[in-house]
Amino acid sequence: MRYKYCPKCGGTLRLNDKQDSTRPVCTECGFVFYQNPAVGVAAIVMREKKILLGKRSGTYRGQWCIPCGYVEWEEDVNDAAKREFEEETGLQIRIKRVYAVLSNFHNPEQHTVGIWFLAEEEGGSLKAQDDLEEAAFFSYGQLPELAFPTDKQVLRKLKEEGLLS
Ligand SMILES: [Zn+2]
Repeated sequence: MRYKYCPKCGGTLRLNDKQDSTRPVCTECGFVFYQNPAVGVAAIVMREKKILLGKRSGTYRGQWCIPCGYVEWEEDVNDAAKREFEEETGLQIRIKRVYAVLSNFHNPEQHTVGIWFLAEEEGGSLKAQDDLEEAAFFSYGQLPELAFPTDKQVLRKLKEEGLLS
């Protein structure tokens, strides 16, 4: 189990009768601790069929990803994608459509459902910041070392569909 104590009362969590480790129960108050994936969002922005990627400075430091982040509580997924992209790249974007939705299992401590949006630049100027130390455009043949297996899947799909050079 990922957690030992109840977030509501501090009681000890135990496995339920079905021994289902995804939903431990509090021995004190009966609270069921459902463990659900978080939602991550990423935005695909291209210039001349090259995609903007960021070099990470926090977790997965030195590896590259499609600029991304978590959706906050009470935040719309589209707004989250725009916010994260601007925080990390300095660019304001307009969301066009959902391009891919995939489950991420690469981090056993934090499963996520990722939503990749196709987006267009609307303003701002490119500057890597926040969780990124560098940002640059890449064609498929020049991709740097990538942090996430699902980004690789999305990049392959972009290439196969002729969106990425
Ligand atoms: Zn409890």
